[in-house]
Amino acid sequence: MRDKIVAGNWKMHKTLEEGKILASEVVNIVTDEVNSDAKVILGTPFVHLDSVSKLIKDSANVFIAAQNCSEHEQGAYTGEISAAMLASMGVDYVILGHSERREYFNESNEQLAAKVDKVYEHGMIPIFCCGEALDIREAGTEVDFVCQQLTESIFHLSNEQFEKIVIAYEPIWAIGTGRTASSEQAQEMHDAIRKHLASKYGQEIADKVSILYGGSCKPSNAKEIFAGKDVDGGLIGGASLVARDFVDIVKSF
Ligand code: 13P
Repeated sequence: MRDKIVAGNWKMHKTLEEGKILASEVVNIVTDEVNSDAKVILGTPFVHLDSVSKLIKDSANVFIAAQNCSEHEQGAYTGEISAAMLASMGVDYVILGHSERREYFNESNEQLAAKVDKVYEHGMIPIFCCGEALDIREAGTEVDFVCQQLTESIFHLSNEQFEKIVIAYEPIWAIGTGRTASSEQAQEMHDAIRKHLASKYGQEIADKVSILYGGSCKPSNAKEIFAGKDVDGGLIGGASLVARDFVDIVKSF
């Protein structure tokens, strides 16, 4: 069976103190209320990772993620953070290719392929984001667009690497807009993604990859979205900033 996962992407929110409070609240509520084996991942800003990794260390089903890393091993890259640094802080997952990174920081599919490699080299797991803008959806070419993102950034991986990856489908038109994809739209795209994975890696490996939905997911719609048979959880932005809401989403499986 595939992992069920709810990952929070805090983006650029929360001071260190606020982040520690949020992480502690999540850990406490998960411990008290979550009895499924769903994995809960906190995607915090870089500066929170060390503190949050200590706060979650006794929780078997809570993990941490960074939101980006450099494609370079080390060197004169002022302001960048390497995969080795993240691994040394106990980071489990790295979110890569979020549409905000692609749009505001011009991250290309090719650059993301190099980042993916660094994450594996240092023993972590990528949460690889894909998703189309509204004009692509309106043109009806969203499946081709998303499949190309995947082909160009992750289809060079070995079978052994690939079966560990987590994919997050986040339609850009649904991020932070309050407009979610319908559960049918989410399932349709997740099914298309899984078929695309199977075309390269075979059905057995494709069936092991967790595919998360992201975009205005909240406690009131999570259950319906997660009901899709190829929807294995969510990547949550705004609603991950409130512990109660975030854990209620975890409880939606
Ligand atoms: P929202 O849940 O705020 O729409 O953000 C989704 C997202 O971008 C998660 O990575």
